[in-house]
Amino acid sequence: MIETALDPVELLAVLKGIEREFGRRTGGQRWTSRVLDLDIVLWSGGTFAAPRLTIPHILFRERAFVLTPAVRIAGYWRDPITGLSVRQLHSRLTRPGTIRR
Ligand code: ATP
Ligand code: CA
Ligand code: CA
Repeated sequence: MIETALDPVELLAVLKGIEREFGRRTGGQRWTSRVLDLDIVLWSGGTFAAPRLTIPHILFRERAFVLTPAVRIAGYWRDPITGLSVRQLHSRLTRPGTIRR
């Protein structure tokens, strides 16, 4: 979790700069192995949409590798799209038999 005065587009540019510093090459291919991947999952401003940036991250609700650590640092944080907290999203994803909305 970070605090910044940057707007989301500026922050994404900084994150991409850090990825480059870590040696990530801009191959343009998604989901290949890479040294570092920095995404913006949620932010305090609710939803955000720009041509190359959507917040909340469109796939975060389906990813245990995002939700499991997120519960530990911000389980109370509410997803502005579903209205569910990170803790609830995590339970929905990981508990068998839970109703998906
Ligand atoms: P995934 O979206 O499945 O996590 P990825 O992180 O592997 O994919 P990248 O190649 O790192 O995909 O990023 C592709 C593009 O996604 C970025 O260049 C960026 O413009 C865009 N993007 C859209 N929304 C976000 C977001 N919330 N956080 C980071 N990047 C985003
Ligand atoms: Ca990613
Ligand atoms: Ca990324």
